[in-house]
Amino acid sequence: MHKGDSQALLEAILTDKEKRVRIQEELLKLYGAPVIAFTVNIPGPSKKTPEGAEIHDIGVKAISAALDLSGIQILGQRLEEGAAGRVAFFSAAAPPIALKQQAIAIEEAHPLGRLFDIDILTEVGISVSREALGYKPRGCLICSSIPAVICRRSQSHSLQALNEKIRLMLNCYKAENSML
Ligand SMILES: [Zn+2]
Repeated sequence: MHKGDSQALLEAILTDKEKRVRIQEELLKLYGAPVIAFTVNIPGPSKKTPEGAEIHDIGVKAISAALDLSGIQILGQRLEEGAAGRVAFFSAAAPPIALKQQAIAIEEAHPLGRLFDIDILTEVGISVSREALGYKPRGCLICSSIPAVICRRSQSHSLQALNEKIRLMLNCYKAENSML
């Protein structure tokens, strides 16, 4: 990647983050309820990939279905697409801890859950962490028993290997759910 390009991409991602914070604040003010912010974990500098968008769609459906099943009302919903990929926001009428437990259940049980990043913000905008609820940090995509942060820091896997794994997971999921 050209140096100027990566600088431009970085700036676009920063603007995205500011936009994300603005939407979150808007929803918090509008509904006074916790906010679910859902993104897909795509490694590498370009987050806007066709696989990422497909996985995001599948995740949005999984989250909506889980909230519906639990009888949790969705007060408002927003979808934002930027340089960092897609973000879906849900204002949900439930306590933040209950929402985080739901989020972790989806991240652990859904076949693509390892790729989902489901953040929960309290009514006052504080993020609820997995660790705060006594859960272990998330495992690496390839060697699942090792925390992802360790493999990332030591750059254990090439971007190509990670993207290949993501494609494989998505294709398996689509084949099993007759989406191919
Ligand atoms: Zn690893």
